[in-house]
Amino acid sequence: MSIDLSSFGQWYARPSGIGDLMDDLGQALATGRSDLLMLGGGNPALIPEVVATWKRRMETLVADDQALARVLGIYDPPQGNPGFLETLAGFLSQEYGRPVGVENLAITHGAQTAFYYLFNALAGENGNQILFPITPEYIGYAEQGLQGRLFRSALPRIEELDDHTFKYRIDFENLPLDEGTAALCVSRPTNPSGNVLTDGEMERLASLARERGIPLLIDNAYGLPFPGAVFTQAAPHWDEHTILTLSLSKLGLPGTRTGIVVGPPKIIRLVSSLNAVVGLANNNLGQALTQPLFADGTIARLSREIIQPYYRAKAEAASAILRSALPGDLPWTLHSSEGAFFLWLRCRDLPISSQALYQRLKARGVLVVPGESFFYNLPREHRAWRHRKECLRISFAMEDAVVEEGLARLAKEVTNAYRQA
Ligand code: PLP
Repeated sequence: MSIDLSSFGQWYARPSGIGDLMDDLGQALATGRSDLLMLGGGNPALIPEVVATWKRRMETLVADDQALARVLGIYDPPQGNPGFLETLAGFLSQEYGRPVGVENLAITHGAQTAFYYLFNALAGENGNQILFPITPEYIGYAEQGLQGRLFRSALPRIEELDDHTFKYRIDFENLPLDEGTAALCVSRPTNPSGNVLTDGEMERLASLARERGIPLLIDNAYGLPFPGAVFTQAAPHWDEHTILTLSLSKLGLPGTRTGIVVGPPKIIRLVSSLNAVVGLANNNLGQALTQPLFADGTIARLSREIIQPYYRAKAEAASAILRSALPGDLPWTLHSSEGAFFLWLRCRDLPISSQALYQRLKARGVLVVPGESFFYNLPREHRAWRHRKECLRISFAMEDAVVEEGLARLAKEVTNAYRQA
């Protein structure tokens, strides 16, 4: 049988960066069959105290016939569970210091789905585009556009903090904003670089959005108030021009597929309607597990006292290992590690591309993500930018032994690649 696919079908039948990444991750972690050292995906760590909290909540849920029947046996309204939304509205109002109502909240099947809805609902027609004011940006956005060239990315300014440390900053003087800019979007902390845009940068982005009457999308998958994988001083940002997304995934619940959109009521009604059309309702489990923990302060406490210090210590340890294993006379440099679960290594002037380096590392049993995948939709004049092919994203969320061995092999391979030139 020959099956003719529509342009929608053809677009999704092609391999995608995020598809390959999640397949690698799934093979390595979900099946448990791979002996690859997994420094590639964005899976959260299994933090014992956090895992124990979910286990206790599961036990309580299973012991309560009525609650269990409701979670397993009933479709929630497409906006999300009313009790959960009420609790979350109270929690976020307190955290942001300004009122967040139920009319500002919608649940989705993971934050990934929320972005698919939002990008395509906000741009795509008449050349309207979503602008990423800084790149590299999250690989998972790259293929989400249904129409034409949905995204446009701006180059960062690169600040060298010392011989082996740098930081990306938004280049406000050269932002390609124009009539076609339908929304701005940033992840904060940024996946892949571990950058945390400063409060000053967020203020400037918010005022650009306000002046132009367009939304500022903030992807808060790793941010504040939960899971709180932020290692610098940074205030959470939300105002009436902001559409903020949160997720239960990096709290340790990616399997529940629970994303949260915080935004104006018009956007919330739209997301609810998309939920109904695309999937009828959301997964109830994550909301049921966490609702009492948002209400009694446990999520806030876990984020501040367990999750943040855990990832900060992992970040510091991984960074120290890599810095001592890579020879100081080579021109490699690491992005300052300010949040999320990743080190972002730039192998400046490396004679091979990061894609080739990724292949060599895979052959040595280490899985990372080549940097090319995070520099999508750059304007034509910047596609030859060498920096695009010099970077690797390295996750430090796995067990210490895996991270240590993976980084040791990686340092050896990078050194060889430089020395063989
Ligand atoms: N946004 C960023 C920056 C991410 O890193 C991820 C997952 O890795 C997502 C969104 C999607 O998260 P979710 O599991 O909620 O779909």
